[in-house]
Amino acid sequence: MKKKTPRKLKKDKPEVRKRIISSGSGTAVPLQVTKSVHPGYEKIIPGKVSPAVKPTMTEEFLRFVWQYRLFDNRNLTTSDGDPVEIFRPGDSNTDSGPDFSNARIRIGQTTWAGNVEIHVNASDWLKHHHSENPSYKNTILHVVYKNDRKVKRNDAELLPALELKDKFDPNLFHRYTNLVQNKSWIPCERQIRGVDNLIIHQWIDRLSADRLERRTLFITQTLEDTSNNWNESFYRHLARNFGFKVNSEPFQVLARSLPLNLVAKHKDNADHVEALYFGQAGLLEGEFRDDYPNRLKKEYDFLRQKYGLRPIPAGAVQWKFMRLRPFNFPTVRIAQFSNLMMRSSNLFPRILEANDLRELSTLFDITASPYWNNHFIFDTIAPGREKRLGTGAANNILINTAIPFLFVYGKKKQINQLCNKAIDFLSKIPGEENEIIDRWKIAGMPVKNAFCTQALLELKNEYCDKRKCLSCSIGSRIIRGNRQSS
Ligand code: SF4
Repeated sequence: MKKKTPRKLKKDKPEVRKRIISSGSGTAVPLQVTKSVHPGYEKIIPGKVSPAVKPTMTEEFLRFVWQYRLFDNRNLTTSDGDPVEIFRPGDSNTDSGPDFSNARIRIGQTTWAGNVEIHVNASDWLKHHHSENPSYKNTILHVVYKNDRKVKRNDAELLPALELKDKFDPNLFHRYTNLVQNKSWIPCERQIRGVDNLIIHQWIDRLSADRLERRTLFITQTLEDTSNNWNESFYRHLARNFGFKVNSEPFQVLARSLPLNLVAKHKDNADHVEALYFGQAGLLEGEFRDDYPNRLKKEYDFLRQKYGLRPIPAGAVQWKFMRLRPFNFPTVRIAQFSNLMMRSSNLFPRILEANDLRELSTLFDITASPYWNNHFIFDTIAPGREKRLGTGAANNILINTAIPFLFVYGKKKQINQLCNKAIDFLSKIPGEENEIIDRWKIAGMPVKNAFCTQALLELKNEYCDKRKCLSCSIGSRIIRGNRQSS
């Protein structure tokens, strides 16, 4: 079979140039263009790099420079001296295969459409065995920091190389390394205030949406496990959320051991529901002095036999009490969760129907049974009060379970109104309060509602901690300085 190569477009004539439509696959397709395209690149004024910085060039940075055309575009030539004009740098590809697809570039007198591969050294092409990989057969240009050797495509054609070394402002690289090598909690915390508010707000919108999207994957996985049972899936996520990080794992195992429809059969009997949860949690083992746990134990023994239940094995999960405020003890949370399940085992449809935030919040206005008013654990009296789920905890459940489910349901069923309602609820709930949010507040970021704080958590966990400053709108702005992308 004849080997495929990047499509050569007609040779340029002064008055008739080529135009190219790029196919989605990155295969070159020719068309007609009437005029040369001038990308409007900015003049690059070389600056100084601190001598203390000993940067190592990265492919990631070169991709950034190529994507935003942050190099001197004047008189570009390949390493063989052919003039290069970039009409389109291509679409960045984060999966396997060439770094950019659908690029449109004139090399010499010919306009090409195809892919662009980026490397620090041209010889990396060989190290990565691209010559043998058919995914790279449509590569039209090799963009390298250093052209240390000539390389060929798998059709044995020499691959034209464009060397970027000395073609971009060294201060770009300096600002980039300053960010990604910075050990601060938020590497750019001193520079954020200089970034335009519009950029920050647009980025927050995108991050908040991304966070909801990521939750979609997590929820979809549970839906697969439950044969698309929304109520059961919601119940499992809700239980996990009730563990509030420290006990999320045991809570999740507990819910899996006790299907929602079984609990629903006993929703009219508080003792039964609590017996089921405390019994399955393994917290009714041993001897008790108080009537209440003894009563639950008796009920559980009966229900256990009836349904063939087996409590979670003690070694499988560990309920954690250490370093928790007594109000957050798993005993208190299980009692509150039991109460919620008793009051509304059919919670998910009610969440979908909630018309406003007040209606939604009311669903989680719950308390534990009276025994817990003066207990945090069985058999030990403690001065206390009603164990109502606090506003912060209830909001946490809305933010992390109820609203994401509303959003995912709307998305899967293509009911935009539900997705919009989810976003509207998020923007009406006060932002979370935690150490991460406090630090963002100090850095000057907006934290006015849960929509913002969710975005900031996403930013910290998915970008700052991974030093993905080049993919962050704030980082991109800081690294580029006042330069506008062309
Ligand atoms: S990822 Fe963005 S916000 Fe985080 S440190 Fe880098 S530039 Fe700053």
